[in-house]
Amino acid sequence: MCHAEVNAVLNKNSSNVKDCTIYVALFPCNQCAKVIIQSGIKTVIYMSDKYAYKVETIAAKRMFDAAGVMYRCLFFEIAASIYYCDSKDLTTYFFLILF
Ligand SMILES: [Zn+2]
Repeated sequence: MCHAEVNAVLNKNSSNVKDCTIYVALFPCNQCAKVIIQSGIKTVIYMSDKYAYKVETIAAKRMFDAAGVMYRCLFFEIAASIYYCDSKDLTTYFFLILF
């Protein structure tokens, strides 16, 4: 079985992904974190961290921290970019995103 992040790195359509950002649905597991770190990816943007309590996820975060790979939730990313555009509509956008 090949995890999605490993598959994405192995089948990238550029010569390398050094300093790139990877967008994932679920927070990567420790096996994928290993490949992400080795590939030189510097940022992980995830949509859901629903398995945050699992040892695989906790290990992945420790590995990212040790390797200097940043990770952020997509919703914060969207909210931050909206904030820079028009901060007064932030509540409305949050509503649209979550529902
Ligand atoms: Zn994985």
